[in-house]
Amino acid sequence: MHLELFKRAQEFEDRIAIVSDGLSYSYSDLLDVSRKIASALLNGRADLEEARVAFLVAPSFAYTATQWGIWMAGGVAVPLCELHPVPALEYVLKDTQAELLITGHGFQELLAPLEGKCHIPVRPLSRFLNNESAAVLPAIQADRRAMILYTSGTTSKPKGVVSTHRIIQCQVTTLVKAWAWEKADYILNVLPLHHVHGIINVMSCALWSGACCEFLPKFDASDVWRIIRSGRLTLFMAVPTIYYKLIAFWKEQAEEEKALLSRAVSQLRLMVSGSAALPVSVLEQWKEISNHVLLERYGMTEIGMGLANPYVGTRKPGHVGLPLPGVQLRLVDETEQEVVIGQQGEIQVKGPCVFREYWRKEAATQEAFTADGWFRTGDMAVWSEDSYKILGRKSVDIIKSGGYKISALEIEEVLRKHPYIKDCAVVGIPDVEWGELVAAAVIGKGTIATDELK
Ligand code: AMP
Repeated sequence: MHLELFKRAQEFEDRIAIVSDGLSYSYSDLLDVSRKIASALLNGRADLEEARVAFLVAPSFAYTATQWGIWMAGGVAVPLCELHPVPALEYVLKDTQAELLITGHGFQELLAPLEGKCHIPVRPLSRFLNNESAAVLPAIQADRRAMILYTSGTTSKPKGVVSTHRIIQCQVTTLVKAWAWEKADYILNVLPLHHVHGIINVMSCALWSGACCEFLPKFDASDVWRIIRSGRLTLFMAVPTIYYKLIAFWKEQAEEEKALLSRAVSQLRLMVSGSAALPVSVLEQWKEISNHVLLERYGMTEIGMGLANPYVGTRKPGHVGLPLPGVQLRLVDETEQEVVIGQQGEIQVKGPCVFREYWRKEAATQEAFTADGWFRTGDMAVWSEDSYKILGRKSVDIIKSGGYKISALEIEEVLRKHPYIKDCAVVGIPDVEWGELVAAAVIGKGTIATDELK
């Protein structure tokens, strides 16, 4: 219980930490259930000593308690993606050498076959919740590994991005300060919880602050508008595709309802967009509807958040502002020399929020950093009009669709296994709703039904 996050939670006691599935849970509830899970995980051991514990639990109170329970027991949390097909989850289990897979409601049957394939126990979360023993929890130092998130890169297989507790704390406290989080805040999480955006920017910032995080298990525009209309939100964060869908829903409403929704949304104190480029047309339409200029920020699984428009001050459409406090950032050319102002270059980042390593991929980790410790993001930017503007990625092999990072090479590899495909190339094509659509050009052996390929 030495982690600052848990010490702070103890102080928030009866405040509501989480609203999920129509129920409210206090900080004390969260700590109690997390302790139960930690005790069951330890099962007589003194410390999990960075054993990887994978879990597939829908965004909910149960998700957070599982993550906290793993941390309290000294384990490394490996949250899995609900949308990934089973072979992709199998890859993560094998790559992390997880000692256990915990399944949330509705996932046990789907994942049970992985027990044999990955040689690990696959256990429903309910088993851990029924635990009545209270173990002595280990003291966790901040420099220990805490979490592995999988991200696609320019190789065909995703890499595990490792963060320590200190790195997570740095990513959280940077945002809490920059965006003036306080315990009176109330945020709605509509984002997946295997990704930095939902885990750090939304859930962890809220819980660090003593605020309330409500979970929607799945994004649905009418549900989000209903909750906005209730007046309980103070903050909202999402990917551009979600704002696009909220705009589309608003446009379908009768004039009177539009006015009500607009009035309600204008009451929030901050609305943030990130994880993909925010089209200026979306920013402008959202301004018309909500009276908010979305705060666009730039970040990455490996660095947390790097650049952000100001909380107070002018937010420039199409720009991502300045480095957040503590982030060192530079733009370099192909020879890794800093470019002159106005010239485009690759973003490189240094600082205490940058990840520790790619899990068991020493060569990839070394390649990702310069000799003097700058992380190569692979994103291009230019300094213009007193702030940074993201220009896109150096490699076309990474596609961003709906905020999800997708490896073109990984899809090509799968397509090439099809008996009727001779060769193929996968690229992202621009799309205002999704950012990019995944497009495949295919050379077939005979006729191929596109439905089958999809
Ligand atoms: P992820 O690691 O999945 O969060 O993806 C990070 C990548 O998303 C970055 O390397 C960028 O390519 C992209 N990205 C994140 N935020 C922005 C933004 N505001 N504008 C453009 N691209 C962004």
